[in-house]
Amino acid sequence: MNVNSSRRSFLKNTSTLCITTGLGLAMLPAVTNAARRLPLIGYTQKKLPYNYKALEPFIDAATMEIHYSKHAAAYAKNLADACAAEKIDTSKLSLEDLLKNITNYSAKVRNNGGGHYNHEFFWQCMQEGTTNLPVKLANAITQSFGSFEAFKTQFTDAGKNRFGSGWAWLVQTENQKLVVCSTPNQDNPLMNIAEVKGIPLLGLDIWEHAYYLKYQNKRADYIANWWNIVNWNFVAERGNMAGI
Ligand code: MN
Repeated sequence: MNVNSSRRSFLKNTSTLCITTGLGLAMLPAVTNAARRLPLIGYTQKKLPYNYKALEPFIDAATMEIHYSKHAAAYAKNLADACAAEKIDTSKLSLEDLLKNITNYSAKVRNNGGGHYNHEFFWQCMQEGTTNLPVKLANAITQSFGSFEAFKTQFTDAGKNRFGSGWAWLVQTENQKLVVCSTPNQDNPLMNIAEVKGIPLLGLDIWEHAYYLKYQNKRADYIANWWNIVNWNFVAERGNMAGI
């Protein structure tokens, strides 16, 4: 991922937020303040931050193309349709705030709002080539899980053991702890119905459409290979903004 463009969009989103939230910030709890420093995902599908072949051999170009241009594009379109039908004013409500109050909305908004958010987030969690684990993030992971390997095992198991379709997450909770969890379907930890709530720092799509062309039924192999393309700088940057 291009760090400069990420930083630019972060600054842009931050300045927008300061204008729209105004004096209300002082009354919000700490975790919300932390979350408000994070870049917003937005309602429309952004350009993929790399080309379809970039993640090979771990994720093949055909999977990426279908995943991005068909599956993820459909979530974005269906979310827009649902917002229009249900008169949700997306100019006044961030997708993040919508997800936090997801029980106020229809199943179509939940499935496609989650689907759109999760995919836009997922693309940023990956990059071409490997990155080193930034020291501050490495320390936070060690402190929470005992070791990086213990974290990796827990996250891998969350993905492997999710029955059916869903996601595995590394999340910062309200208590400023790092935890691993999994959500079904297109739910995510921002949602008020999530078992574990918090700010997603890293997410892995474990729907079959994310890996079936290359890995068929071997979800464990997909997860094992996926570690090679995690964008740790993105995870660390989110962690910094969320206050770890
Ligand atoms: Mn997917």
